[in-house]
Amino acid sequence: MQDYDVIIVGGGIHGAGVLQAAAAAGHRALLIERRAIASGTSSRSSKLIHGGLRYLESGQFALVRESLRERAVHLRIAADLVELKPFFIPVYKTTRRRPWQLRAGLFIYALLGGFAASTRFGSVPQREWHTLDGLDTEDLDAVIRYQDAQTDDAQLTRAVVESARELGGSIAMPASFIGAELDAEGVVVDFEQGTETLHARAHVLVNAAGPWAAHLSRAVRPPIPIPALDLVQGTHIVLPVHTTAGIYYVESPGDGRAVFIMPWRGGTMIGTTETPFVGEPDRVQPLAAEEDYLLAVARRYFPRLRELTRADITDRFAGLRVLPAASQKAFDRSRETIYMTDRAVKPRVLGLYGGKLTGWRAAAEQVMRRIAPSLPVRTRLASTDELILRRTSP
Ligand SMILES: Cc1cc2nc3c(=O)[nH]c(=O)nc-3n(C[C@H](O)[C@H](O)[C@H](O)COP(=O)(O)OP(=O)(O)OC[C@H]3O[C@@H](n4cnc5c(N)ncnc54)[C@H](O)[C@@H]3O)c2cc1C
Repeated sequence: MQDYDVIIVGGGIHGAGVLQAAAAAGHRALLIERRAIASGTSSRSSKLIHGGLRYLESGQFALVRESLRERAVHLRIAADLVELKPFFIPVYKTTRRRPWQLRAGLFIYALLGGFAASTRFGSVPQREWHTLDGLDTEDLDAVIRYQDAQTDDAQLTRAVVESARELGGSIAMPASFIGAELDAEGVVVDFEQGTETLHARAHVLVNAAGPWAAHLSRAVRPPIPIPALDLVQGTHIVLPVHTTAGIYYVESPGDGRAVFIMPWRGGTMIGTTETPFVGEPDRVQPLAAEEDYLLAVARRYFPRLRELTRADITDRFAGLRVLPAASQKAFDRSRETIYMTDRAVKPRVLGLYGGKLTGWRAAAEQVMRRIAPSLPVRTRLASTDELILRRTSP
């Protein structure tokens, strides 16, 4: 049986981040991924490395501050993969969030971002509205401009895995976690690779299986605490038209939710939705009603898209958010990562639930801090805020 300091299940951005952080801290770490790196949620996000302007409305200031800090780290260590883009918020006579509210929000955003140059904001003068990809200008009062960053989520995840590999991190893939048994020394993990059932020992098991995490936690013996969670589906569609000026942050005409309309691989990506999901996470897929909802948003703001129908959609994908169970709307629920261990002192299992693509590095560092008392002392090889991430595939 192979021995590790840490075994991580899930090759999404969080599992990749913990593998990198563990390897950087000099630990012997193994990542088990069932399919391919970023085959789950981490290839189906809105692909933004952002502070999360709208989280200010629900008072999640600490999350916004941390996300802006992480955005700055990405711009430094992943310049190849993360790009600052202009964001436009059009404000019409009927828009719920008024220009003064948006400016106040952006001022707080800039404050939380330490007034860095990347947090500057302003308005697009009316004489330049014609440069905005054909944005509807009827009854348009103002267009607020600020900056946030866009990435390719799957490529970013692969780059983090590659960085972990260079530091000595191991990967079993495709390989499926089956179960784990806790004992006095740590944990014995059972997983399947090909036709073989393998066993490995570790001081700590980190469950980073995203929407599958609660399911995995139930396969640990003796049973461990699991938070009450909801899965909420988010769909994106891609239309075969160019958007070049930047990313549009608009209100859905129906329910006022914020939706992004953004350039993506020569087309235009629109997302996302928030549809309660029950069932097997493998089955998540875009629903016709979600596609209609997103098309309606695109048509409202860009007259040139009014002729497009579901038949014109060139790509579509759906992912699952992991949110704390609650009766309030998904939109208003906390996006903070939930960390839960089997016990308060010297944990043998840590489950990581929810979180953001943007916060993967901070989350991984947080995981390492929480499991440190269970790990042997090793010599640190590197610091994750200095490891340069590079594109690994076209
Ligand atoms: C619609 C949507 C839009 C989003 N947009 C943004 C955004 O723009 N910016 C942002 O910062 N965040 C965004 N997020 C959040 C972000 O995408 C997620 O927090 C993040 O991708 C979750 O990564 P993860 O590693 O936890 O899970 P996942 O990426 O889902 O990874 C879990 C992995 O576990 C593997 N796995 C499952 N079971 C097993 C098993 N038995 N054995 C081995 N492996 C297993 C799966 O194959 C999968 O690869 C968005 C989320 C959604 C749903």
